[in-house]
Amino acid sequence: MYSLNIVYKQLKDKIYERLREKSKSTYIDYFDESELVHLDENDAIIVTPYVFNKAMLSDVITEINDSFLVLLNQNVSCVIETTDDYRKKYIIDTITKDLSDNLLPDFSFDNFIEGPSNKEAKMAALTCAMQPGEKFFNPLVIYGDSGLGKTHLLHAIGNYVKQNNYDKKVLYITSLDFVKEVGKSLRDNTIEEYKNQLNSVDILLVDDIQFLSGKQKSNEIFFTIYNELFNNRKQVVLTSDRPPVQIKDIEERLKTRFSQGLSVTISSLEFETAVKILELKLKNHHLDKSSIDCDVISFIAKNFSTDVRNLEGALNRLLFYSINFSKGQKIDLPLALEAFKDKLQFTSYSHAELSSKVIIKAVADYYSLTEKQLVSKSRTKNITTARHVAMYLCRIHLDNSYEKIGDDFGGRDHTTVLSAFEKIERLLKENEMYRKIISDIEKIFTK
Ligand code: ADP
Ligand code: MG
Repeated sequence: MYSLNIVYKQLKDKIYERLREKSKSTYIDYFDESELVHLDENDAIIVTPYVFNKAMLSDVITEINDSFLVLLNQNVSCVIETTDDYRKKYIIDTITKDLSDNLLPDFSFDNFIEGPSNKEAKMAALTCAMQPGEKFFNPLVIYGDSGLGKTHLLHAIGNYVKQNNYDKKVLYITSLDFVKEVGKSLRDNTIEEYKNQLNSVDILLVDDIQFLSGKQKSNEIFFTIYNELFNNRKQVVLTSDRPPVQIKDIEERLKTRFSQGLSVTISSLEFETAVKILELKLKNHHLDKSSIDCDVISFIAKNFSTDVRNLEGALNRLLFYSINFSKGQKIDLPLALEAFKDKLQFTSYSHAELSSKVIIKAVADYYSLTEKQLVSKSRTKNITTARHVAMYLCRIHLDNSYEKIGDDFGGRDHTTVLSAFEKIERLLKENEMYRKIISDIEKIFTK
């Protein structure tokens, strides 16, 4: 943009020169507030905020194009647009063209293992993917705890539609992205364009709608988009960590709409489903059943099946351990016990002894904070980080609900806890230092 400004400044000097030569100086004033916004080998676009100025500049387009030739030694064909038209014609066009569907191709129905805990949700998702827009399934709401496959099913619907219905436009977004995008478009004055974009899709997949809680403006805008889509028989699929009626601080009229279609839930995994998922994940790692004893599979399924994310984490740890310490020989139970000896230590830690109080104290000690600071409203960075770590530990060691953890940490909302949990989970994946911090803290309270 900076260099375009410089070009434009030099260009204007040339243009003004010409206009003066041709006794057309009166045109010069109409260049005020105009801008050169695009320039390539052949084309240029100059914008001005006013319709009248556009007409005046178009009048002297020959002088403008001649000046380009003198300045750049190339033939450029320039068009004049009002700023408004320019935005509508060019910017939106590129946005819609580039609007990605955000779908992750790895999440499909084929690699989603079905069991009693998720059968209903899978059936509903599949039916909805086969007949998008059917009134009975609109909206489809899938709810349940974290790590049980909600996001997986949402992408699976999108991928299915994309493969079988080429002309349908699909969009996956998380409600947090939606809130962010609404905020940005309100600031940039492009909210109408954003609404148009969402209204132009045939299947809108919105993940984690509980995060719409307390976001009033986003609620209002989501409501209008939802109505428009619904009235045009476009499919909306939503996920949430709880039934929509239980989401706090979202508009009543939205809750009513969400309950209009079909709500299905996914519950915790049963043992057999966990085993099947593990077998599938092994296959994805190109390992067959003979490379791992079946009692190891049962062992992991039994100890880590609170959710699928946990299960995957345990399997990855085991494979990592086997590659590094047993040179890839058959994985047997002694090896598994060795790989999980730290983990098992605290799973066997009696729940009566381990409590959120104990964890809060351990984390506070580690960060040299007081327990009171940890549960306070303070947003100082190191206190916030310590708080998130403590919330994470309460979730994985005590299996407390997000609500309960919120209560234990000074009456915080469950959505805050969930996003803290997911943040630490992400950091642990990406950052060795965090893994070290967590295991050091675990050592304090499992001593
Ligand atoms: P949620 O959105 O409910 O928190 P995800 O959809 O992100 O959970 O699932 C977490 C991980 O577990 C993903 O890698 C997903 O592919 C996997 N997963 C969940 N359920 C199943 C299942 N039934 N079969 C295979 N993989 C699953
Ligand atoms: Mg999810």
